[in-house]
Amino acid sequence: TDSSTKHEYQSDVARLRKIVIESLYSHREVFLRELISNANDAIEKLRLTALKDKTVWDGVAPLNITLKLEKNEEGDGGRLIISDTGIGMSPKELTTNLGTLAKSGTSEFLAKADSNSGSSNGNLIGAFGLGFYSSFLVADKVYVASLPPATEANPQPVQHVFSSSADEPSFDVYPDPRGNTLGRGTEITLVLKKDALEYLEEETVKSLITKHSGFASSFPVYLFTKRIEEQPIPQDELDQTTEEKKEKPKVDDDEVVVEDAKEEEPKENEVKTRQVTVEEWVHLNDQPPLWTRDPKDVTDEEYKNFYKATFKQYQDPILWHHFKGDSGPVSFRALIYVPSTLPEDFWQSPQTAQQDTRLLVKRVLITSEFGEHRLPKWISWAKVIIDADDLPLNVSRETLQSNRFLKQIKNIIITRFIQVMQKTAEEDVEKYKEILKVYNPILKLGVIETAAEGKTGNRDKLSSLLRFDTTLRTGISLQDYVDNRKEGQNQIFFLANIGQTTENMRHSVFVEKLIARGYEVLLMTDTMDEIFVSNLRVWGNMRFQDVAKKGLQYGDEDVEKEKKELEKFKEDYKPLVNFFVKSTKDISRMAIVISNRLVTSPCAIVVDSFGYSANMEKLLTSHGK
Ligand code: ADP
Ligand code: MG
Repeated sequence: TDSSTKHEYQSDVARLRKIVIESLYSHREVFLRELISNANDAIEKLRLTALKDKTVWDGVAPLNITLKLEKNEEGDGGRLIISDTGIGMSPKELTTNLGTLAKSGTSEFLAKADSNSGSSNGNLIGAFGLGFYSSFLVADKVYVASLPPATEANPQPVQHVFSSSADEPSFDVYPDPRGNTLGRGTEITLVLKKDALEYLEEETVKSLITKHSGFASSFPVYLFTKRIEEQPIPQDELDQTTEEKKEKPKVDDDEVVVEDAKEEEPKENEVKTRQVTVEEWVHLNDQPPLWTRDPKDVTDEEYKNFYKATFKQYQDPILWHHFKGDSGPVSFRALIYVPSTLPEDFWQSPQTAQQDTRLLVKRVLITSEFGEHRLPKWISWAKVIIDADDLPLNVSRETLQSNRFLKQIKNIIITRFIQVMQKTAEEDVEKYKEILKVYNPILKLGVIETAAEGKTGNRDKLSSLLRFDTTLRTGISLQDYVDNRKEGQNQIFFLANIGQTTENMRHSVFVEKLIARGYEVLLMTDTMDEIFVSNLRVWGNMRFQDVAKKGLQYGDEDVEKEKKELEKFKEDYKPLVNFFVKSTKDISRMAIVISNRLVTSPCAIVVDSFGYSANMEKLLTSHGK
C-alpha cells in the first residue's frame, strides 16, 4: 500500500538476528518467556501511565495476556498469537523499538556474542534477555499489530502492523488492513517454522509457562484451548432418537429372559452423552506469585527458576532469603536473592551501579527507581522483590519518593542479608566458604561504606562475617582471632600482600618473630584488606598492627629483656651498619637499622610506620595517584 514503509534493519540488528537464529537453536523456547515478559512490561507501562493520565486506562478494563494456537487446516503449520492489553506502539515506536537496537541489553548481548563467538551464547540469551528478536528462533514470519491508547495528543490512534521475515534484511510498517481490531495493546503473530510446530501444542505451552513460575507476570496469562468433552445430549434430541428406536422392529423379542430385562431398565435412565469440542480460556498463571506463598511450600527448584526468569539470570542464585516483615504500619513480604557471581563490571562501575530492587504493592509493581534511597554500592548486586500490603495504591511515584517505607527498604535488605549470612555461617560451613569466595571483598567494601556513613552497628556485623587465613589456621573470624590471643596480647597482627598465597606468606620474614613468640598473624591477600583495616582500626579492643611496618611492638613481658639484648646487638654491629650506610648513601635514602624482629632471616626491607605499605603503594599507583 502507499502508506506502507519499507525499512532496512540497522546493520547491527541484521547481524544480531543472524546470531540469534544460528546459535540459539537449542534454547529457542526462551522466545515465549521474552514475549510474555514484553507483554507484561507493556501492561505495567500502561498502568503506571494511568496513575497520571486516566484517559489511557479507566482502571476497570481488563489487563491481561492471551495466547492462541492456530493450526493450519492441513496440519502442516500454524501460528502462535500473543496479545496484550498494554501500552501498545505507534508506527514510529514499532519502527524504533523493534527495528533498532534501542535496548542496551540487546547491544550488550551483541558485544558478548561477538567476543566469544559460538561459545556460550545459549547462556547469554538468558543473561541479557534477547527480547523480541528471539521470535525468529521459532518463526519464519512475524507480524506485530499494535494500537496505543487514545490520548489528548493522539486522540484517534490507528492500528499499525510491523512485519518481518526471518530471511529478509528489512521490515515493513503499515496501517493494519483489518482496521483497529485491538481495543488497545499489541498482538504478535508468529508464523511458526516447520520444525517448531511443537509450540502449537497446548501441553507444550502450558508446561513452559509453569516452568517459569508464571513468568512473574503480575497479570493473568490465558490460553485459548479446545478440548473434546463428553456432554449430556439435550433431552429434546434424546426424545427424537428414542422415538426412532421405538419405530424399529425388535428382533428376538421372544427370547429375552426376565433377568436381562431387569438389567436393561437402569440403562434407560442413564444420562446419554456424546463428544463435543469445548473452547475455553484457561488461566495459566493462576498460582499465586511465588513471593506471596509460604516459604515452607516453595521448593528450591521453584526459587531458582523464579530467579532466573524474573531477573534474567542464567546461573542459579547462591543464596536467597524469603520472609515476611513489618516496618511501622507497613507489612510486607520480601524475597532477596544473592547472585552466584558479581556483575562483570562491578568493581569498575560507579557508585550508582544498576540495581534491581522492585517495590510492589499488593503484587503490582510500583517502582524500581529508589533515587536517593537506592542500595549502597556494596550490596547493589542484590535482586529483591518487596511486596507491601498496605501502601495506598494510587500514590504517584513522586509522593512515594518521600514515603518513609521507601527509606526503610534499604535497611531492611541490609539487615536481612546480614542475618541470612550469619545463619549460613553457623549452619552450613561449606556453603558459606563458597559464598565468601565471591563475597569476602564485598563485605569489606560494606565495612568501608557503612563506616563512612557512621553506621558502626552494620560495620561490626559485616566485619564479623569475614573469614581470614592466619599463620596458624584457615577461615577464621576476627572473633576467633581475638579469642585465641596470647596472654597480654593487645594487638591484632596482620600481614597484607595483595595476590600472594597465604601459604607463601606463612614463610614471610615478617611473621617469623611473631610465630616464634607464639602469636597468630592474620594473612591478608585482598586488594580491599588494608583499606578495610584502616577503616575498622580496632576489633574486640585490639588495635590492628601491620607486622611489615617499622616500630612493631609486641607489648608482652619479654619486652624489657629484648630491649637490653637489642642495645647490645646495636653496639656489636655498629661497624657493619656504618659500612652499609657508607656504601649505599649514593643510591638510597633508606635507614639501615639493627632489629630483633627476625628469627632466621638475615635481613628485611620494612616500611616506615607512617608510610604506606608496599601493597598500598601498589594499589595507589594502579589508581593513578
Ligand atoms: P527489552 O524488553 O529489553 O526492552 P525487547 O527486544 O524485548 O527488549 O523489546 C524492545 C522494545 O520493544 C521494548 O523495550 C518495548 O519498547 C517494545 N515492545 C516489545 N514488545 C512490546 C509489547 N508487547 N507492547 C509494547 N511494546 C513492546
Ligand atoms: Mg523484552
